[in-house]
Amino acid sequence: MFDNYLDTKGRIFDIQRFSVHDGPGVRTIVFLKGCFLRCKWCCNPESQRYEIETMIQGGKEKIMGRDVTVDEVMDIIEKDRIYYRRSGGGVTLSGGECLAQPDFSVALLRACNERGIDTAIESTGFADFEKIEMLLPYLNHYLMDIKHINSEKHREYTTQPNEKILENARRIAKSGVELTIRVPVIPGFNCTEDEIRDIANFAKTLEGVTELHLLPYHRLGESKYEGLGRKYPMGDAPLIPDSHMQKLKRVVEETGLNCHIGG
Ligand code: SF4
Repeated sequence: MFDNYLDTKGRIFDIQRFSVHDGPGVRTIVFLKGCFLRCKWCCNPESQRYEIETMIQGGKEKIMGRDVTVDEVMDIIEKDRIYYRRSGGGVTLSGGECLAQPDFSVALLRACNERGIDTAIESTGFADFEKIEMLLPYLNHYLMDIKHINSEKHREYTTQPNEKILENARRIAKSGVELTIRVPVIPGFNCTEDEIRDIANFAKTLEGVTELHLLPYHRLGESKYEGLGRKYPMGDAPLIPDSHMQKLKRVVEETGLNCHIGG
């Protein structure tokens, strides 16, 4: 990476301030464009393509995607520093997949780290480990999705196999960064007790991992697909009843992990 890393450019589609869901405390979430996967349930379809797109929202055209430097993003982040300090919060890179723009992600995490701001990424880990390794020195929390243990089923619902993801999870856990495993619980894909047990049993083998987060399926992104002129891939798939989520929570707990429903 070149020396003046604050000039590194990246492509984002949103910055959300005052989030309390994506890592500890009050956080600023930077949403990056581009993802290697195409999960059928994805609630941010505007994040998937790297290209800048037009999306219709509330009857108006909205341009999704803009190019920014790390310095420009840091100006926004700096405004919320006082809230991070009070709440133990910080900055989370989300998307999309921040590993799809590794130079920008490293530079942004480095800028936060050097100013003493807590850092997290929400990432599915589908990348060569060398790219992940570049981020680790500047990272406090890795929030990682493990979506399915069966690679074929993983490919069917996300377009990609899972071997690289599982191997990277092992290597990230060994690196000593705080790793949180999250499972989007999706009807027809991974919502049986056996499927969740398989994921929990895998998570249990990861060094330092003591807790699993189950994220119930929701349809909040449905109108965005329409706004992008795309068909919602989940059709009319039903929400998962709370009673079933509680059952899955008990399945996880039986493996010896703590379980939390929600982000
Ligand atoms: S990994 Fe995340 S951002 Fe990428 S397609 Fe899946 S849900 Fe969407």
